[in-house]
Amino acid sequence: MAAPGKLSTYRLPPLPTLGEIIKLYRLRARKQLSQNFLLDLRLTDKIVRKAGNLKNAYVYEVGPGPGGITRSILNSEVAELLVVEKDTRFIPGLQMLSEAAPGKLRIVHGDVLTFNVEKAFPRSLRREWDADPPNIHIIGNLPFSVSTPLIIKWLENISRKDGPFIYGRTQMTLTFQKEVAERLTASTGSRQRSRLSIMAQYLCNVQNCFTIPGRAFLPKPEVDVGVIHFTPLVEPQISQPFKLVEKVVQNVFQFRRKYCYKGVGNLFPNTQRLERTKEMLMVADVDPTLRPGQLSILQFKSLCDAYRKMCDDDPALFTYNFRDELKQKKKMPTNLDD
Ligand code: SAM
Repeated sequence: MAAPGKLSTYRLPPLPTLGEIIKLYRLRARKQLSQNFLLDLRLTDKIVRKAGNLKNAYVYEVGPGPGGITRSILNSEVAELLVVEKDTRFIPGLQMLSEAAPGKLRIVHGDVLTFNVEKAFPRSLRREWDADPPNIHIIGNLPFSVSTPLIIKWLENISRKDGPFIYGRTQMTLTFQKEVAERLTASTGSRQRSRLSIMAQYLCNVQNCFTIPGRAFLPKPEVDVGVIHFTPLVEPQISQPFKLVEKVVQNVFQFRRKYCYKGVGNLFPNTQRLERTKEMLMVADVDPTLRPGQLSILQFKSLCDAYRKMCDDDPALFTYNFRDELKQKKKMPTNLDD
């Protein structure tokens, strides 16, 4: 908790540079953990500015590493910063930052994929879902292999209003591989339109803030990096359970270049495929010859609503998975030979 009576403009005292911290604690980036560090504090300041006004805010930073973004957050007059870092080697450097900003930095050695943030911040910060977002922000530059599963997990948390969203519409500012950042924000009809575009945009206002060239990182990754800001919507654009939306969207995008009826068809067992695909598209009023990338979120909403109705009428339908049917079929000839 922040100590009372702080100066109104807080700056960290002079500290060793990030380069010196890396040398001091021998923090060589581990390639197998996709560690790429941002050492340019102008860039880390820019990321943190995109999160909004952090004065008196409670911030949850995921994967602080040597602490570049951490320093920028601490310089933003936050009430408290909680960091969760998996790699123990970074803890002493973070402790040095904690000593430089007494009472402000809480360090957790843990995994963001399993860390329970629901009790991490005071209850008094909670806001109604339809009120303004709470003064809690998530910020992070994680490895690409973690940021994509994590955003899917957090999108599901948004749909259930739990996890970091138990406090209300907590905003997030996160980095992604540029290609993934483009998918997250892709509009109807664009080349990058994909499963991630629909899953993120039906729940959030998603903004592509800026791109950081790969050369700004140490070591330099193969790709550029996009900074994305998410604000959960008061009303999701699709009012169906996350898993149902995910299933419809995943199936539709199964065949990106084909007409959408092909992917929709995979929602149904082979024996009923033709007529039920027709029925679902008709109820949803969606043109079967549109390609998946041409479908708007409203059209996905109609598809999900139509599929929900069909699942309510036939509860076994939701558990149907065309891959299982394919596997069964592949096994058949062998069984016959036995
Ligand atoms: N934020 C720092 C920066 O911008 O320089 C470090 C970025 S580096 C790409 C990612 C950091 O996330 C590393 O410090 C890594 O150890 C940490 N990390 C990776 N997976 C994690 C996980 N599952 N939970 C917590 N931290 C993780």
